[in-house]
Amino acid sequence: MLTLPLAATIIADAMNDARNAERPPDEREHLPSASASARIHRCPASHEFSIGLQGIQTAEMREWRAAGNRIHDWLCNQLGPSLSLNHGPFKSLDRPLTDDEQDVADRCINQARELKSRIFDGISSRGIRLIQEQRMWLYAVPTTAQSILRKRFSGKADAVFIWRDAATGLYRCLIIDFKTNRGDQEESTRNAQLRSLAVLLCITLNWKVSSIDVAIVQPLVSGDPTPCCYELPELHIAHNMLLADLARCEAPEPEFHPGHEQCKFCPGKFKCPALQDLRDSLEVFRVGATAAELAAWLDKAEPLVHAYDEARAGLREHLNLNPDAVPNWELKPNAGDRAITDPRQAHDTLVAANLMDTATFLQKCVKVGIGTLTKGLVDYNQLKPKHKADHIINTVLAPFLTREPKNPSLVRK
Ligand code: SF4
Repeated sequence: MLTLPLAATIIADAMNDARNAERPPDEREHLPSASASARIHRCPASHEFSIGLQGIQTAEMREWRAAGNRIHDWLCNQLGPSLSLNHGPFKSLDRPLTDDEQDVADRCINQARELKSRIFDGISSRGIRLIQEQRMWLYAVPTTAQSILRKRFSGKADAVFIWRDAATGLYRCLIIDFKTNRGDQEESTRNAQLRSLAVLLCITLNWKVSSIDVAIVQPLVSGDPTPCCYELPELHIAHNMLLADLARCEAPEPEFHPGHEQCKFCPGKFKCPALQDLRDSLEVFRVGATAAELAAWLDKAEPLVHAYDEARAGLREHLNLNPDAVPNWELKPNAGDRAITDPRQAHDTLVAANLMDTATFLQKCVKVGIGTLTKGLVDYNQLKPKHKADHIINTVLAPFLTREPKNPSLVRK
């Protein structure tokens, strides 16, 4: 484990390197942004430390992100017209959406429509404005020493619906963030990104706001998004929380606080001195340790897990390009699993040769995965949206549906 003065020196040097590193162009102007709100709240140093490193991605992450961007661009083009609202900026797609991507996009629109109707119940669409993907800024309060407005923080919401109550002059708003991949997201009530976006919108509207609802639309995770409503008093509290986080982030020596959640998506994880210190301080795992010792060990080791996985994915990419990239690692050829290309022909052949009967073949050799069954139902019945197939499976096939017991998951409380 590093002694404290030495650790402090390493951290200070690393922070200076981060500050002096070349900075590629960035629409956020290298300032903290809403998408990193939760991370900078947990680890204030992570902002400086991530600058310039956001572009480092594995091939898998790039493909995952490209699919998400394509659906977002499609939504940008279609959301307004399909909700009878103004058009957003038109974006050209690099290729049409796949069936699966289209299904997610359609479900996003349906859920957005449902949310808009719920929040603006009884209000004509003609009075509602839709603003898409526009960056909003928070500025430092001008002082006598510095009269020029200084940007501090920004955020860009996927969709903002705004309605002005002519009687009070106040705005009622709905912010939607589309998450088009699978993966757990904090629900709207606790989502720091959405809370920051609500604050930015409130500032942009000069605090002339009666309420701002925020919601995550994530059709692959939930069919019924739950909005969270911020009224003016809560928006003031959220604003103060954001200012406190920014002050910690802008400190001359912001603090590092490694932890599973913040390190998971932190672009700075490969050169982070705090993680290095953590790794050096890890004792060898001891068999027979108590539950408390094991939990303490896991608390320490967890932030390193994602760095390990991403390092493996990165090395795999290097070795794919150049098998001799490093002397001590290689991509070992894998024979792959054998598979029957035509189950029906295989069945007929075995039965004809008296090597098996149909009942044994069906019971012992055929396992119907829910994913493949869903796809088969969608293709055969031309189902849109895809979740109609889930309904068929849950109702028509209910007598044959079972859930295999699994070991409970180990999660943090
Ligand atoms: S890797 Fe973790 S500890 Fe290091 S800067 Fe990022 S969030 Fe903070």
